[in-house]
Amino acid sequence: MYTTTIAGSLPKPSWLAQPEKLWAPWRLEGEELAQGQRDAALVWMSEEEAAGIDIVTNGEQFREHFVHGFLKHVSGIDWERMTTMGIRDNRYDADVPTVTGPVSRQGSVHGEEVAFCRRHTKAGFKFTLPGPMTICDTIADAHYGRRADMAMAFAELLNQEARELEALGVDVIQFDEPAFNVFMRDVNEWGIAALEKAAEGLKCRTAVHICYGYGIQQNLDWKETLGSEWRQYEEIFPAINASRINQVSLECANSRVPMSLIGLLPDKQVMVGAIDVASFEAETPEQVAAVIREAGKYIASEQIMPCTNCGMVPLPRDLAQRKLEALGAGARLASQSN
Ligand code: ZN
Repeated sequence: MYTTTIAGSLPKPSWLAQPEKLWAPWRLEGEELAQGQRDAALVWMSEEEAAGIDIVTNGEQFREHFVHGFLKHVSGIDWERMTTMGIRDNRYDADVPTVTGPVSRQGSVHGEEVAFCRRHTKAGFKFTLPGPMTICDTIADAHYGRRADMAMAFAELLNQEARELEALGVDVIQFDEPAFNVFMRDVNEWGIAALEKAAEGLKCRTAVHICYGYGIQQNLDWKETLGSEWRQYEEIFPAINASRINQVSLECANSRVPMSLIGLLPDKQVMVGAIDVASFEAETPEQVAAVIREAGKYIASEQIMPCTNCGMVPLPRDLAQRKLEALGAGARLASQSN
């Protein structure tokens, strides 16, 4: 039987934020917002469990943006001093805050939401944090001078946070590193070292999610330039396989990443993305099972964790729900034919 999980995010209910929009502003505020976020997390954890997902997340219902949600609680960042920066090697421009001094955590960032979610599910619980390299690609530096140094500073803060979350009963801490297929040389030079520092000393399972991004236009345009086979991972998988991180999350459904590349991860659990988050049709269980079986040609079935390609936050809510069900059903189907 496969252990199933999801990459992380799920759509916000329409009463919490505008649907089908990335980084949509909240529709509630103050205590009403906090209550709304908890309610939304309960809905999704319950939906995940009903779909047969073994390791659930709270769907990231407590944050607008996967990086800024963490950075908002960090000192040393000037949010008034916005710098326009080319993100992901100039794939798109964004106005980002600026690091103007040594960074430090102002206190627990996610402790409260994690304690709440832990109390409300008996399933395995995974929590996602932004990876240090991706943080550095989402913020301007006017203090550290070298990206590698800034990454190590953030890795230290992530590690403090991760240890506290582990103590609250989180089963898997996942670091999201979409920057990992953009700066391949940096990944090998310092990206993995920073990731390992973020995960240092953790006894729970640790994971990294690397990906080619949501189905937004800038990403779709960029993907057109990558050719018919996306082999970027070939350059970084050997180092990831040698790292202390336990699990690697990849997009495998309708992906141009050749499935054979997962053979470069013989010592890892692989979260095999079997749900396409850029398609507006729910997969059939047969389609999900086909992706899992294809992965089984290159790694042992014990290594395979059926998963979504990426976060589902931009999708319509009912579609995300049907995709969860397809994932659970497809994994059960694939395990029957093992
Ligand atoms: Zn992703």
